[in-house]
Amino acid sequence: MESENNFDLVIIGSGPGGYVAAIRAAQLGLRVACVEKDKTLGGTCLNVGCIPSKAMLESSERFVDARDHLAEHGVKVEGVGLDLGVMLARKEKIVGQLTGGIAMLFKKNKVTRVEGLGRLAGPGKVVVTGSDGSSCELSAGKILIATGSVPATIPGVELDGDRIGTSTEALAYSAVPEHLIVIGAGVIGLEMSSVWARLGAKVTLLEFMPKLLPTMDDEVARLALRLFQRQGMTFNFGARVKSAVREGDLVKVTYASASGEEATITGDRVLVAVGRRPATQGLGLDTLGIETDRRGHIIVDEHYKTSAANVWAIGDVIPGPMLAHKASEEGIAAVEGMVGPPGHVCYDAIPSIVYTNPEIAMVGKSELELKNAGIPYKKGSFPFAANGRAKALGQTDGFVKILAHAETDRILGVQCIGPRAGDLIAEAAIAVEFSASAEDLARSVHAHPTLAEAVKEAALAVAGRVIHI
Ligand code: FAD
Ligand code: NAD
Repeated sequence: MESENNFDLVIIGSGPGGYVAAIRAAQLGLRVACVEKDKTLGGTCLNVGCIPSKAMLESSERFVDARDHLAEHGVKVEGVGLDLGVMLARKEKIVGQLTGGIAMLFKKNKVTRVEGLGRLAGPGKVVVTGSDGSSCELSAGKILIATGSVPATIPGVELDGDRIGTSTEALAYSAVPEHLIVIGAGVIGLEMSSVWARLGAKVTLLEFMPKLLPTMDDEVARLALRLFQRQGMTFNFGARVKSAVREGDLVKVTYASASGEEATITGDRVLVAVGRRPATQGLGLDTLGIETDRRGHIIVDEHYKTSAANVWAIGDVIPGPMLAHKASEEGIAAVEGMVGPPGHVCYDAIPSIVYTNPEIAMVGKSELELKNAGIPYKKGSFPFAANGRAKALGQTDGFVKILAHAETDRILGVQCIGPRAGDLIAEAAIAVEFSASAEDLARSVHAHPTLAEAVKEAALAVAGRVIHI
């Protein structure tokens, strides 16, 4: 029976998981509704994540270039100054264009947008409560949960949405902090520290583990640390934060240092960036007996089916890396699986990128993972210092490292730190997805002079026949 509130598929959440799944499902002929509690579509990624952070990273990088680097090119610029208001407005404009773009894509694909908080209310039922308190019930043949994640917090540090905040606040500080204290030297910590350090803030990072980006390849992490320190960031590793207490416009952070002694540090802004947790609160998972793991992620099978009939889940709300492209690919695979042969995501070929300067990117396995799994490997690496294009750009820090199986030569992992590493890793991800060998990459013609030649040279280095070093 077709009625206004009767859908083949109801998706809860319009992030890169939910909105992409909605469009794909509509392409496949399903009558689709997408429920979103926020005023704009696009989820964390478009509103307060990937897009605004990259806009601020790009702008702050331009500022540093103009201030510190254009002179090296013989370009004279005088009186370089910062207009933070314009920078923030530019970011908001980009966000507005992209979130508005999704609304248009929904219209084009006949996806019904339902504004309000969605809650499971028994088999095939989703109740949506609007911001004005009104509610409606949607009937759904199938339900896809794509509610994403929210920032994790730590005991003793209460967020006040102002001086003590998350990445959402750090994307919109109205003035450059005097001293920004960042708790967590993971991806958000490093990206946001980069933005504000470039714009003039003193930045101190307190990291619980003994290194930055704890899961990152050691060689890459060591070089990254050196370069970030050179950019003025201060790192305190092994720091266990106990409390953050507001004192007027300042915040006093107390932590146990690596040596176990108690230390305090005072700043005017604190960014808590200690990971994110799945957003399932109030979703009504219990009404359908949907199982979660001990960290609260919804448990799914290889086709993204939850433990309840006709309910699927994808993206940050299920286990795995919290990345926009992972969420989107899972969304596509899940809805394709609903109507036909299951789609597929190759988890070994999901690239991850940290958009600092230099960028850091990786795909596949790290050396440590290969060692721990007892997989024999060969490695080849190539420094950007020997790449002509990197020299022309004036960005020669970093290297590409390729790990290939010692017997089959199949590429198992690629790590890269250097200029545009995030773009270069696409080639490596395709190589991993297509089970390419290092020899395949090494024999592929790469245009000259490009940064991508460093990838080819690293592949040549796997076989001990690198040309340019
Ligand atoms: P989300 O994007 O979180 O979307 C979930 C949506 O569901 C939200 O809109 C939410 O309002 C809605 N929702 C939740 N509960 C309900 C409910 N009950 N009813 C209705 N709606 C609901 N990833 C990258 O790959 N690259 C990056 O550069 C990158 N940068 C990031 C920078 C920052 C600062 C942050 C915080 C994250 C970043 N990420 C990045 C991670 C990325 O944003 C997430 O992995 C991605 O958004 C997850 O997509 P999702 O669709 O699963 O969930
Ligand atoms: P993260 O997991 O990358 O880093 C969190 C860091 O905080 C870790 O280094 C951890 O050791 C540290 N930490 C945890 N508890 C701590 C404590 N009590 N005191 C001090 N340090 C502590 O998480 P994040 O940076 O918050 O990012 C959240 C998610 O968003 C990540 O999963 C990431 O994939 C995603 N994200 C991705 C991008 C990107 O792809 N470029 C950018 C931003 C965010």
